[in-house]
Amino acid sequence: MTSDSQVKSENTALPPHKTVYVDTDRVACDGGGGALGHPKVYYDLDQNGEAHCFYCCAHFIKK
Ligand SMILES: [Zn+2]
Repeated sequence: MTSDSQVKSENTALPPHKTVYVDTDRVACDGGGGALGHPKVYYDLDQNGEAHCFYCCAHFIKK
């Protein structure tokens, strides 16, 4: 069991988008404002309780 040479890069990559946990079926996203902001948009969560922001790729998950 000597597989230490196989170093994965999971600690180096930044997450591609943020994850936001919500408790409603509808979410609003404006990118958080500032330089990363975008026009406020609303999304309905899908049957899996998830939605992705078209603008900033934020990932919404229902708790
Ligand atoms: Zn967004």
